[in-house]
Amino acid sequence: MPSSWSINILEAGTIGVSDPAIEKGKGYSVEINEAFNLYRASIKFGDYAMDLFKYADTILQDTELPIRRLFNAKQNVRLYKNRKIIEDALNPSDVFSDGWWLELVFRKKSDFFSENAFADILLSLLLFILPYNIEAEEEGAVVNTISTTHERSHINRSICLAYHGYSCKACGLNLENQYGDIARQFIHVHHLNPVSLAGITKPDPIIDLVPLCPNCHGIAHLKSPPYSIVEIQKMIISNNGKLYT
Ligand SMILES: [Zn+2]
Ligand SMILES: [Zn+2]
Repeated sequence: MPSSWSINILEAGTIGVSDPAIEKGKGYSVEINEAFNLYRASIKFGDYAMDLFKYADTILQDTELPIRRLFNAKQNVRLYKNRKIIEDALNPSDVFSDGWWLELVFRKKSDFFSENAFADILLSLLLFILPYNIEAEEEGAVVNTISTTHERSHINRSICLAYHGYSCKACGLNLENQYGDIARQFIHVHHLNPVSLAGITKPDPIIDLVPLCPNCHGIAHLKSPPYSIVEIQKMIISNNGKLYT
């Protein structure tokens, strides 16, 4: 996540996220709270942040964009656009100000790590609808370390993982199930179509990127262009290895 973000506890049960690098009033804040069966994040725009809201709103209109497709694919996630009408107290018919905010509602599922899944979707949303400039980048198969994996939590990685989940697309290994919480973010994101790495086209984080465990990712890059997912699966099976399910 952008290093400029600050996170603080607003009141019992509510966490606030804001970006102090943006001039006061021109930025946004996110209030996150948890209810029995859902998480809710309210993205509120500052009094002078109409440009920022319009930017986000315009992006969200495009149904073809990965962030919209991510929302469409997740039945338990909804995004609402709300408007708060503030009336002149002396003359209630006179509306003198309006405040827009976005509300992300995530219904918890009992069968997986809801908290992490919610955080991934919120992070993807914020990175996508706000003018953060984060370069798409593939993780190098050779030079990767734990720290670089963390530094590269960029927008495409975020959307890819929010969509595909954290199990390796080739062998099926889930690092978190295997090693615990600490290994969750150690999953690599692999570019299926390295031709577009040359910058000719932008990768589509849902179609072009897949999660791979560090082993399978290393194997994929033993040749160039890399081995396909199916080729790696064949290698595992033909060597009496097992695919995790
Ligand atoms: Zn794997
Ligand atoms: Zn790769």
